[in-house]
Amino acid sequence: MRLEKRIFLSPPDLTGKEIDFLREALDTNWVAPAGPHIAAFELELCSTLCGYAAPCGYAASCGYAAPCGVAAHACALSSGTAALHLTLLELGVGDGDTVFVSDLTFAGSVNPILYCGATPVFIDAAPDGCNMDPAALERAFATQPRPKAVVIVDLYGIPADYDRLLPLCASHGVPVIEDAAEALGATYKGKSCGLFGAFGVFSFNGNKIITTSGGGMAVAADADAIRHINFRANQAKEPAPYYLHKELGYNYRMSNLLAGVGRAQLASLPDKIARRKAIYERYRAAFADLPLTLLPIPAGCAPNYWLSVAVLSPEAPLSAAALTEQLEGDNIEARRIWNPMHRQPVFADYPRIIAGRASNADELFENGICLPSGSSLTEEEQGEIISRVCDRLS
Ligand SMILES: *Cc1c(COP(=O)(O)O)cnc(C)c1O
Repeated sequence: MRLEKRIFLSPPDLTGKEIDFLREALDTNWVAPAGPHIAAFELELCSTLCGYAAPCGYAASCGYAAPCGVAAHACALSSGTAALHLTLLELGVGDGDTVFVSDLTFAGSVNPILYCGATPVFIDAAPDGCNMDPAALERAFATQPRPKAVVIVDLYGIPADYDRLLPLCASHGVPVIEDAAEALGATYKGKSCGLFGAFGVFSFNGNKIITTSGGGMAVAADADAIRHINFRANQAKEPAPYYLHKELGYNYRMSNLLAGVGRAQLASLPDKIARRKAIYERYRAAFADLPLTLLPIPAGCAPNYWLSVAVLSPEAPLSAAALTEQLEGDNIEARRIWNPMHRQPVFADYPRIIAGRASNADELFENGICLPSGSSLTEEEQGEIISRVCDRLS
């Protein structure tokens, strides 16, 4: 039976407090061009990442001395894609350079590499998860031109294998950008995702764990780099009494209105993670006897459980594509997992590196399905999804 009310994969989940921040911005006429919500949102995000508040006093970005030993500075931007673009530029990525990037990801991880005129090299997923395979990365370092940067994605909110990936990059002297667009609030061995590379990037797109409708954030320990990103995001306007531009600028800043929405959303992040985790746990228990497994959570990882991903076993009576289609017929929005970048016609010219005989990313794409995971998903809706998946797979 088709459900009357559609169940979405990961819809925005408003807290009710967004309107208070928006009203404050409107009442004080901080609609343009900047405004106090932006710096506050940057500060609150840093404090979320680092665990406690100790403002560093920078105007455009704010830093914290973190228990994990990392200071974070942040710049709010118009999207995660913009944040990736500016962090790549900050590392000097340009024409003719090579950048290694996870093969199994969303195109937003890769497009900015091409904006810079660089060549992406796609690194396969690990056989035991969905994130970058250290063995494939090692092979890429041995067989490809030395990259200017490595973009490592924390897919579906599960931290990548940093204990193995970071030493490889460090031994070649190559900086890392952590694409934590999906992983706000996740931790790896007690340290927040977003803090593992020279730069970290977040997205507040409508489907992410918190949303500003659209937006992003670049974070780094390097306060000067974050200040420069902020400068470039504001059309690289020099501090002069007339319009003066010495560098190429971009219009990538976040509006004060949206930063206000972000502040309300960020305050509810722990609650949103708890709700998504409960959904993951419920799926896992309900599907224990079915020919599928949820993506495993590696030791030391505390994901944010952005999306629950089921991987069908070979003995499953139908394919991931067929299950997705049948759930669609039920008015339930499930999705195939990200289609690997090397399979995208637009990226067909670029190399892809695997460590073994076959692509783990291809196999996951073939068998993986993202189940509705939104923090506003009711218990009743979860029950509907579970019974329909069970009916088709048992
Ligand atoms: C969403 C996403 C992006 C892009 O973020 P936008 O804010 O939509 O530009 C980049 N990388 C990954 C892995 C994402 O999921």
